[in-house]
Amino acid sequence: MRTPFIVGNWKMNLTLSEVEDFLSTVKGRLPDPHDVECAIAASSIYMDALTKFCKEEKNLKTAAQNCFYKDSGAYTGEVSPMALADMGVKYVMLGHSERRKYFDESNKMINKKVKAVIKNNMTPIICCDETMAKRKTVDEMNWVVNPVIEALKGISPEDAKHVVIGYEPSWAIGTGRTASAAEIQEACFLIRETLIDLYGQDIANEIRIVYGGSVNSRNVAEIMKQEDVDGVLPGKSSLKAEEFIKIVNYQN
Ligand code: PEP
Repeated sequence: MRTPFIVGNWKMNLTLSEVEDFLSTVKGRLPDPHDVECAIAASSIYMDALTKFCKEEKNLKTAAQNCFYKDSGAYTGEVSPMALADMGVKYVMLGHSERRKYFDESNKMINKKVKAVIKNNMTPIICCDETMAKRKTVDEMNWVVNPVIEALKGISPEDAKHVVIGYEPSWAIGTGRTASAAEIQEACFLIRETLIDLYGQDIANEIRIVYGGSVNSRNVAEIMKQEDVDGVLPGKSSLKAEEFIKIVNYQN
């Protein structure tokens, strides 16, 4: 069975004291990791604070929002996957629509990063974007699954079964417009079918697919009911500790 996975994406928000306030508020109020696995994707400058907290609070995992595909070298300003792993980071988000839009990240580059993250024994959360225009004009299978196929090129079945896929329609990110439960299930089903084509049913059944796009404490339970949805990726609503606590405790 796939354990539900909820990862808050803080993006480029919060100061250190706000991070500390958040962590002290969520302490002891997160679900058992066997029921719902929780993570926070923070900016790299907060990895230290977050990984230290997560060593004590086993119900929260640390995620990075990005990394480079080389472990070290003359790459000024970049974040090393090897250094993230060394700090105890468990997940790395890759290919978020904001990375694709503002930093020109291509599927090819994301594929290199996926390989680097796996090599360093972390788990990639591979985000695939969908724009409204694409949903209307491009063949149904292409609008969401191509980024998944490209990101997983050269990834073995054994490694693939641990990855997380994030379905994130960019028209729903930060807009307050959530995709309907049916739209989310339709896309996640297509992704699952693609994973079956790539790796077979058994491996595809193990891969978690999460939805991101204006998730909050009011819509999370409905989204989580969808058969091919294994988690959510809230952005804005993960910034407030009380709201994040409500989201991760959606089963209660
Ligand atoms: C995101 O950052 O991936 C996201 C889905 O943001 P929001 O929840 O604010 O739409």
